[in-house]
Amino acid sequence: MALVVGDPRTPGALPNKNPGQIPDLLRFGLGDIIDAIPAKQSTLLLIAEEIICASATKIMIPSGHIDALKRFANANAEDGKILKNALAQDPSYYRDGLLLGGNGAAAAITFGNSIFFRSAIPDLGTYIHEMVHIHQYARVGPFAFLTSYFQLSMATIIWRAINGRALNPMSSSSHEKQAYQLEARFNSWIAQNP
Ligand SMILES: [Zn+2]
Repeated sequence: MALVVGDPRTPGALPNKNPGQIPDLLRFGLGDIIDAIPAKQSTLLLIAEEIICASATKIMIPSGHIDALKRFANANAEDGKILKNALAQDPSYYRDGLLLGGNGAAAAITFGNSIFFRSAIPDLGTYIHEMVHIHQYARVGPFAFLTSYFQLSMATIIWRAINGRALNPMSSSSHEKQAYQLEARFNSWIAQNP
């Protein structure tokens, strides 16, 4: 199987030039391989998710968090649909791992049907926020969700994720707005309905 080496990259693109004595035509990196085979990106994405999950510690969400989600969902129909759909996806929960290692400021990151928390006992509002992302991932699909969530190309997301580099979810994206707004409505409701 031949590997086609792409055009020279612009600065800031995937790191694809291995330093050393390799002739120019033979210089390529993982970024080139991911770029060269877009049809394989869903397979690579699944592999990336497996690598990320294997690097993290599985945790349980406290039953009180799930009870609070259900109480809020039953009292607030619109938001409830989103959160009940998220629960129906049966997401996996983890602590730490590669993704959070590369994204120092984040309290949690959702990748695929998995949520990675910084804390072994996640903050309740953060849990609700990430569950909105689980719903979004299920509704729009992995490519639309991840590229919007990280505002990066899929090839860049995969490369950075498995190399433990920063992905910096954008607080300005429409997915983040929906998650922050629902989290805020949840926090004020739960304060009045403890
Ligand atoms: Zn978010």
